[in-house]
Amino acid sequence: MRSENESTSQITILTPEHLSGAQRVYMTAHSSCAMCDTKLEIRHEINQIEFKIKEEAHCPSCGIRVRSAHHVLH
Ligand SMILES: [Zn+2]
Repeated sequence: MRSENESTSQITILTPEHLSGAQRVYMTAHSSCAMCDTKLEIRHEINQIEFKIKEEAHCPSCGIRVRSAHHVLH
C-alpha cells in the first residue's frame, strides 16, 4: 500500500532551522489542518546514510496524515 499523499511537494525546505523569516511564515501558513484548522505537527526524519529527508505532517486532532515527502539532499 502506498501513500496517496506522497508527492514531490512544493516545499523545498530541509529543516525549520534553515528557514529565513519569510519562509518560516510561509511554512506556518501552510501548516494548519484543512479539516479542522488545527496546527499540524511536522516531523522531519533525516536519513544520513541515504541523504534523504522524510517529511510527515499530521493533525493531532483528526489524526490524519496530511503530507509526506522525500527529499534527496544534493
Ligand atoms: Zn485536523
